[in-house]
Amino acid sequence: MSKHVPSWDSVNTPSNVDEQVALVQEFHSYLVRRGYADRTLYLYCSVATHFLRWQHEAGSARHCIDAPSVSRFLFEHVPACCCPHSGSMDFKSMRAALNQLLLMRGENRLRPSIPLASPSIETTVTRFDSYLEQVCGLTAATRWYHRRYARAFLLELCGGTPVDLSRITADALLQFVNDQARRLLPASVGVLAYSLRTFLRFLQLQGHDSTNLIPAVPRSATWSLASLPPSLSAAELKRFWHAFDRHTPAGRRDYAMARCLADLGLRCQEIANLSLDDIDWRSATICLPGNKSRRERQLPLPQLTGGALADYLRHGRPVIPTRTVFVLHRAPVGQAATNTTVRGAIRRAFVRAGLPWSGTHILRHTVAARMVQGGVPLKEVADVLGHRNIDTTLIYTKVNLPHLAHVALPWPGRQP
Ligand SMILES: [Zn+2]
Repeated sequence: MSKHVPSWDSVNTPSNVDEQVALVQEFHSYLVRRGYADRTLYLYCSVATHFLRWQHEAGSARHCIDAPSVSRFLFEHVPACCCPHSGSMDFKSMRAALNQLLLMRGENRLRPSIPLASPSIETTVTRFDSYLEQVCGLTAATRWYHRRYARAFLLELCGGTPVDLSRITADALLQFVNDQARRLLPASVGVLAYSLRTFLRFLQLQGHDSTNLIPAVPRSATWSLASLPPSLSAAELKRFWHAFDRHTPAGRRDYAMARCLADLGLRCQEIANLSLDDIDWRSATICLPGNKSRRERQLPLPQLTGGALADYLRHGRPVIPTRTVFVLHRAPVGQAATNTTVRGAIRRAFVRAGLPWSGTHILRHTVAARMVQGGVPLKEVADVLGHRNIDTTLIYTKVNLPHLAHVALPWPGRQP
């Protein structure tokens, strides 16, 4: 057995131990192939050992390695774990390790990485998420925001200590919303407040008296088309393109992702989900599959975007059987990139270019502003951006100042 695989102690019955040891060995080989360092190999294998031992002791069926069993382990067993030799109890590492075990078994991993709070907070947030899904029937994207704000609020309220709902007061809610509002856009403050009210309703169903607290969450005033979306000037865009090192595999990947954002106005999630099957090289088009909230759309593949994609696929992307275009270049090598990968690549490029931006939406705004200023009809801009409602696209007409200058009448009495 490799020195990185933790030894299995004698708590298990022999019939199952052999299978579990073989499973941990298989996991170890899998992690080696994905480029993990020795220290991580040991850590992840000891977490897998802990998980399998717990499962065995809980009398679970053999090899029942799926997201629900991993969730039960992380959110029910770990907070109360008294196992001898349980190894690492760092929640984030445990979840990362078990996600890899799930992937090795061909299962879906737990939801994409988000900063984790204490196990007690995570348990509350997980229950809240089940309520959002099963009772409210919300989509994964909406639930993500609700979880995010509920977690942030509980973290602010309880820090690293166990969740104490008696600390939720009208003052605490107001203070939290005001603090967050300083760094959020008005529309995001609205989402935050809505998330908090939903969370309080969930607590009410759980028996916590929060009737008087729900009206205490302030409402934010939002006016449609109130703010101008920022976009990059031609000079800034040039600096941005120079910020990518196109001699390294990861640099080629980041550049191709940036081109998809800035040339096609794709969303981060659409870039992360992009599949080789979505690209039609012969007709130079990209077809983005629709989903529950978005319809399918077909976009022309500009030469520079296509060139960047081809360069990455030929000279940057590892040779792997998966159909996902963009993958990770560090451990776990070959795993599909996520929207966090896309955001991180763009944020780092902005820093290298010395540009004061950090979000990816500015690139979408830039495409839209360029199209509107180039005279492309609003309906077509809406189609490219995947806006269902043309009202959403209207905001870009506000930035069309050079065009407005052409139609403005001269001031009476002023020399033309
Ligand atoms: Zn344990």
